[in-house]
Amino acid sequence: MVLADLGKRIHNAVNNALSDTEDDYTTTVDTMLKTITTALLQSDVNIRLVSSLRTNIRNELLSNNKHNLPPSQRKKLIQKVVFDELCNLVDCKEQDVIFQAKKKKANVIMFVGLQGSGKTTSCTKLAVYYAKRGFKVGLVCADTFRAGAFDQLKQNAIKAHIPFYGSYTEPNPVKVASDGVAKFKKEKFEIIIVDTSGRHQQEEALFQEMVEISSVVQPNQTIMVLDASIGQAAEQQAKAFKESANFGAIILTKMDGHAKGGGAISAVAATNTPIIFIGTGEHMHDFEKFSPRSFIQKLLGLGDIEGFVDILNSVTNKKDTQEMMENFKKGKFTLLDFQKQMQTVMKMGPLSNVAQMIPGLNNAAQAMSGGADGGNTDFMDNASKVVKQSIYIMDSMTKKELESDGRCFIEEPSRIVRIARGSGTSVFEVEMLLMQHQMMAKMSQSTAQNIQQQEAMKQMG
Ligand code: GDP
Repeated sequence: MVLADLGKRIHNAVNNALSDTEDDYTTTVDTMLKTITTALLQSDVNIRLVSSLRTNIRNELLSNNKHNLPPSQRKKLIQKVVFDELCNLVDCKEQDVIFQAKKKKANVIMFVGLQGSGKTTSCTKLAVYYAKRGFKVGLVCADTFRAGAFDQLKQNAIKAHIPFYGSYTEPNPVKVASDGVAKFKKEKFEIIIVDTSGRHQQEEALFQEMVEISSVVQPNQTIMVLDASIGQAAEQQAKAFKESANFGAIILTKMDGHAKGGGAISAVAATNTPIIFIGTGEHMHDFEKFSPRSFIQKLLGLGDIEGFVDILNSVTNKKDTQEMMENFKKGKFTLLDFQKQMQTVMKMGPLSNVAQMIPGLNNAAQAMSGGADGGNTDFMDNASKVVKQSIYIMDSMTKKELESDGRCFIEEPSRIVRIARGSGTSVFEVEMLLMQHQMMAKMSQSTAQNIQQQEAMKQMG
């Protein structure tokens, strides 16, 4: 089962449980669990993990007389427990120790993984990610094994305007890596990404080479690139690499399209290593920072505010993002904030990626294009139309309306008719936009709570 379907199945299973009017709470929980566990297994998630998820959810929902809770509290509990357990599945609990690149310092990042996993592509994507955030970034091609590897990296780097280093004549990858890193360090580069060679299979020579390169370039971070479409084999592959290369982070590639993803997700638990990014397509922009909660929110079609802010950081000036974060922290999200976001969305690269982060927007664009294929041109055009339409609608609002939380429209529905007329849209379209704003506002409140909790934890040490 592909990931999008997995999300829908789980979402539906939970919704069915929430609307179940049966008196037998145990049966409701067991029916929901049966659907969730079957869906996870069909997506290649390891059976041990699925079984422990099932036990944990069941214990949390049925222990200590939870049967006796009022239905409204039981519903909240079901949502929370299922969500938390799904997050646990992709959270190795090491997120706090994730490497943070430092400015004005040479941060060396080494990539490892099998051939074809998406290493070279991901190296460039990561380079672009850091370059957009103001780092001076260089790419080193230490893959002398595969003919054409240097050309591929070179082409990608030129397209993305990233300086690169490699050699057509030097056969020793350790020497190329060492020379490349030394050159970029001398030139005060801040992020130096080293692409190493892959093989079709895990073999002794590959691991030996990785160990040697690692010992000369002394990476601050080693990243394993894992192809999400390889299913259950991912776990074994990750374990084998962990033993030799001891990577500290994972990038999952090919999480777009028809990947089941569950096998790769299981590799996180097997190696206790955090996923830091996911690749969602062949283009440079198809790259998303990974956080367990955001991933599960998106999987379940609930949007992803944290991811949205992360992309905002790369396209807006710092002051605007800071202002927005301050508002998020206060749990405040006015229509004016929403309008600013939509204007920024237009500058943010592939809309299909961004659309998934805004609850409701994805569905609206899919409904227009009549399908669930987030990558097709129709979908992109429609996502863009929806965003433009939203901007027109908000342009027709008064300053006071924009600065409000949207309640004035519920109190005085005639405002909606006026705005529809003024923006050349329908009442339904204005209502949809207000609904999207409400969903974003709700998410900003829960983001605010998360941020406050994190800050409180930090203060407690
Ligand atoms: P390497 O041998 O590990 O360096 O792999 P490459 O970077 O050459 O990638 C192998 C193939 O996978 C290429 O055709 C890439 O365009 C493709 N690829 C890489 N990442 C992704 C991804 O996230 N999604 C999709 N659909 N394709 C990807």
